[in-house]
Amino acid sequence: METNVTNIIIEKVKKSRISEVDFSNLPFGKVHSDHMLVCDYRDGAWQTPRITPYQGITLDPSAKIFHYGQSVFEGMKAYKDENGKVWLFRPDENQKRLNISSKRISIPELPREIFMDGLKTLVQIEKDWVPTTPGSSLYIRPFVFASGTGLHASPADQYKFFIVCAPSGPYFAGKVRVLIEEKYSRAANGGVGYAKAGGNYAGQFYPTQLAIQKGYQQVIWTDDNTHEYIEEAGAMNIFVRINDTLLTSPVSDRILDGVTRKSVIDIARAEGITVEIRKVRVEELVSASKNGSLKEMFGAGTAAVISPISGFGYRGSDYDLPEMKDSYASLLKKKITDIQYNKADDPFGWRFEVI
Ligand SMILES: *Cc1c(COP(=O)(O)O)cnc(C)c1O
Repeated sequence: METNVTNIIIEKVKKSRISEVDFSNLPFGKVHSDHMLVCDYRDGAWQTPRITPYQGITLDPSAKIFHYGQSVFEGMKAYKDENGKVWLFRPDENQKRLNISSKRISIPELPREIFMDGLKTLVQIEKDWVPTTPGSSLYIRPFVFASGTGLHASPADQYKFFIVCAPSGPYFAGKVRVLIEEKYSRAANGGVGYAKAGGNYAGQFYPTQLAIQKGYQQVIWTDDNTHEYIEEAGAMNIFVRINDTLLTSPVSDRILDGVTRKSVIDIARAEGITVEIRKVRVEELVSASKNGSLKEMFGAGTAAVISPISGFGYRGSDYDLPEMKDSYASLLKKKITDIQYNKADDPFGWRFEVI
């Protein structure tokens, strides 16, 4: 285990709010824990991080986040096992990705120690906020945005890094019907699709609302050039099972390199499932659906882990997926969550002990 190298100023709450929270009925991402971490960038350097009571902040109306959208974020979870130990899952991946995202939109990269030590210390302080009901976890949201001011369209000179935590129940959306999108694009070659940049999500809301009005719950994004290949399922990576082979698109400029995606690939292969990382044509899904070889589709991401798809709409027709008894989706979800909650061995070394 790493020891903390970062000097962190800690100011704790006088009285915890934890007794006011109904832990048996937690929504996803709406209840906030007692503390947060904040670290300022100014004068060309990241300053000493602070852990303080969770509270609002004041920003200048000319802060560049409001005008030019310089913001990036991460999403991760802390899990409590049966003995009360708290674990993170591959946090180094989130640490690296935050800086990959930051770099793309000219936010100064955050030193690894501030992220890792800040995260670990905050979760240690918030350990009682990690829920224990099955499927629940402490959702963790690290983010960076431009707080520096100026109406000139150029990178800010000041930034803030935060980590906030939300004790959350299982993210359960049920099976979703998805619409294969041919007009709008989430991302383009040379763009920012691979970054977890705030504006990417704002751009998804409107096409998703249109899909909802048509009776679907989510959009399948296709490549911006031809709209012939599937790329992501909303804000999740997408997997397709044809016969007994699991397919997922390679990551690119346009596709986010999800931690869940790469973990699912490794676990599936360890289970003896054939995984092909290659582009998947919409037409291939349509013909596989018609001849019965399309068995499953699901999204993969931290919040929902695995989100099964019940069917898809494409060019005015609907294609339903079969009910699978021993689905890859449920097998893979169990395997990955058993590692996350310390219910199974961790052959890949993905668990990170917090306290
Ligand atoms: C966050 C995200 C994912 C999933 O990434 P995880 O690391 O598995 O949570 C996939 N696609 C998009 C667009 C995302 O923003």
